[in-house]
Amino acid sequence: MVVLGSTGSVGSQALDVADRTGIKVEGISGYSNISLLEEQIRKHRPVFCAVKNDETLRDIRVRCADLDVTFFAGETAIGDMIHESSSDIVLNSITGKAGLLPTVEAIKHKKRLALANKESLVIAGEIVTALAKEKSVEIIPVDSEHSAVFQCIGSEPKDRIKRIILTASGGRYFGKKKTELENVTPSEALMHPTWNMGARITIDSATLMNKGFEVIEAAWFFSVPLDKIDVVVQRESIIHSMVEYIDNALIAQLAVPDMRLCIQYAVTYPERNAGVIEPLDFTKLSSLSFGIPDTATFPCLELARIAFNRGGVSTSALNAADEIAVKAFLDGKISFNYIPELIARTVDEAPKIDHASLDDCLAADEWAREYANKLVGGNS
Ligand code: MG
Repeated sequence: MVVLGSTGSVGSQALDVADRTGIKVEGISGYSNISLLEEQIRKHRPVFCAVKNDETLRDIRVRCADLDVTFFAGETAIGDMIHESSSDIVLNSITGKAGLLPTVEAIKHKKRLALANKESLVIAGEIVTALAKEKSVEIIPVDSEHSAVFQCIGSEPKDRIKRIILTASGGRYFGKKKTELENVTPSEALMHPTWNMGARITIDSATLMNKGFEVIEAAWFFSVPLDKIDVVVQRESIIHSMVEYIDNALIAQLAVPDMRLCIQYAVTYPERNAGVIEPLDFTKLSSLSFGIPDTATFPCLELARIAFNRGGVSTSALNAADEIAVKAFLDGKISFNYIPELIARTVDEAPKIDHASLDDCLAADEWAREYANKLVGGNS
């Protein structure tokens, strides 16, 4: 397989899964951590590697001068690598908007797409799913909730689904009220109770924007209307999501919280192979607790629904505004509670476009970044 974003959290775990299951890693891409990229090349011996620009290309070439690797650099690097690869699976675990065009490239080259980059569907869900249909490409979810739903649905027809119930850990500040979150610091917000993830997704998890993105993702993945997608807080992150059928049967997927199961299933589907993760030990599980998300304290979950219902490029603006808001919060420029306000104001002002093209989505992304940045400036 080809692993995009191999130096990130999911990407590193994907290489671990490949290692433990004997899957050949033909190509990798990593843009920021060159030392780790070198380490991964030495360990996994990919044929291809894509890097950000000519500067990183020179660096990695020197570091790997004793190895036989073909490197690609620049804007077309990932597309070029996918074009050259003979693997039939591309795992996209790039973070943020940067993952969108690689998703499109993988589909155009008719590779099975194991998708961990949720922004591909948040920014351009209609275009990505239509293109996959046109090219008869399977997109298999890697996000834990969607992997769970995917496993719960199996071959059941869509019209038997009453609702999809996405579970949420509740994030770092579950149970807190807005007034208690006024002085939250970035380093404190970066600690997540159950999942070990990148910085942006950890903050998105604390604001519940991550769950909002996942509602949008689920709507596109499973072609289910938004009012059939509910969110339930499941504090222990043991139930990864559920599907309720018209006869009120509820199918849930449970496992220890470990992304490697989702990665493994996306890559081996429809087969199941021996597990790389620990089995769930019920004797060590004292309870499973549930709760309703507090959308008054964490408005981002509702903002995602509003943006999706508004349609067009609204969710492209939603994602861009969130990227800017999270960065501004981590840089100490805005408060935790201002994150949803900044996003709401940006989405409100976003252009209204019906039947948006990929270029429209990317233009809306640019516009929203600029607008959100102005709001950051006005706030500091
Ligand atoms: Mg998730």
